[in-house]
Amino acid sequence: MNLNGKTAVITGGARGLGAEMAKLFAENGARVIACDMNELQYTCADVEFYKLDVTNTEACKKMSEYAVEKYKKIDILVNNAGITKDAMTKKMTDEMWDMVIAVNLKGVFNMTKFIGPHMEETGGGSIINISSVVGEYGNIGQVNYAASKGGVISMAKTWAKEFARKGVPVRCNAIAPGYILTDILKTVPQELLDKFAASTMLGRLGRPDEIAKAALFLASDDASYITGTVLSVNGGMRL
Ligand code: NDP
Repeated sequence: MNLNGKTAVITGGARGLGAEMAKLFAENGARVIACDMNELQYTCADVEFYKLDVTNTEACKKMSEYAVEKYKKIDILVNNAGITKDAMTKKMTDEMWDMVIAVNLKGVFNMTKFIGPHMEETGGGSIINISSVVGEYGNIGQVNYAASKGGVISMAKTWAKEFARKGVPVRCNAIAPGYILTDILKTVPQELLDKFAASTMLGRLGRPDEIAKAALFLASDDASYITGTVLSVNGGMRL
């Protein structure tokens, strides 16, 4: 698997899974633009930081124009930026619902609205939406997150059809990670994390590099006949 000569845009690339993907993609030959609200928490020669809030449509348009102007072609888009605002449905405020939908769902739409057609016009590309095990199976106290992560699976399936309809090889897939050790799990009580670990066939939580390697595969030409799918990377969770 290599990404030699390819340009990748990764949202939420400052830390967590996005950072791991950005570094791995760069190690494997890509030039990476890591878009995030805050500075990168690492340095890597082939990873460029671009300050971006994915909820801002106009800013996403400008970002795609900047990337095309600078690199001529965007080959890979990873829609990774995501947040949680958890509560039981009866206690969930409109603000909690709106914030999660704005970042996790509208943000994915905003980026792909500009970069998907660019890939179609320039001969192909690979789009990866980062979903979640919660998007596949639902979860108590996460109706906003589940809706958004289920949504990005349907969006991936839709774009797999839409952007390839003229015979151009734009592939679009989703990755549904299980529980992976990043900051996003900071608010989850340890006993719940232990329960999640025990509910996997492998008996442990996942590591960020295990998601990054799955993304590297889907981004690369080695996945040239894979589109419209969901790759579950969850240690065999029994839900
Ligand atoms: P982190 O919280 O560690 O990182 C998310 C990154 O996204 C942060 O750098 C964050 O910036 C950034 N971000 C948040 N909002 C925006 C925005 N509006 N515009 C641009 N960037 C933004 O999360 P993870 O790395 O764990 O998660 C990455 C993705 O994987 C998410 O979509 C998440 O839902 C998904 N996922 C994670 C799992 C896990 O167990 N870790 C499991 C399943 C799915 P800031 O520093 O400002 O918050």
